[in-house]
Amino acid sequence: MQRARSIRQDIDRILVTQQQIADRVSEMANEISAELMSLEGDSEIVLLPIMTGSVIFVADLMRQLPMRLRIDVVTVSSYTGLSKKSQGARLRDKIPESIRGQHVLVIDDILDSGSTIRLIRSELENLGVRSMRSCMLLRKTIPSAMATPCEYVGFDIPDEFVVGYGLDYNGYYRNLPDICVLKADAH
Ligand code: 5GP
Ligand code: MG
Repeated sequence: MQRARSIRQDIDRILVTQQQIADRVSEMANEISAELMSLEGDSEIVLLPIMTGSVIFVADLMRQLPMRLRIDVVTVSSYTGLSKKSQGARLRDKIPESIRGQHVLVIDDILDSGSTIRLIRSELENLGVRSMRSCMLLRKTIPSAMATPCEYVGFDIPDEFVVGYGLDYNGYYRNLPDICVLKADAH
């Protein structure tokens, strides 16, 4: 029987370290708090993380947001299996009706083609939210991503397929603490 091996040996290089992520997440939390806490009216603030890639990001970010808020999740799949190319965003289940009329902060791991956030934006508009902002840990410096409106961005990165801190390849590597590029033969 084979023994479990460390996924560290599959890394080609680290693009963003866990310390850089931690520092930037704190800055983003401060910026988001200042803006969301100044909103008037009796709507609630709802975080809407897009599963599964944003799972670690939202866990770190939300613990630094001091205001009263709720969290709902949506699952969007765009990459399937061994693909490193987006195959169009698809919503796995309906967005909860309970966010109608609320201020929504959509949270995702990475902005690439922009199709995920465009899909969510149109769903939220149809549902009738009070406001929508989006918050991405990463954004690829490619025209489609740079042209997609997004209020909060953690890091701009080159156009490479990255894993770690929640981002996967074929379901694996989410538990790497840094944002990494894999070796070409990793799987
Ligand atoms: P978009 O819809 O903007 O093309 O892509 C957004 C989604 O595609 C992200 O939520 C993420 O799931 C996936 N994605 C895009 N680029 C990467 C990447 O470099 N690595 C990983 N692991 N997922 C990515
Ligand atoms: Mg995703």
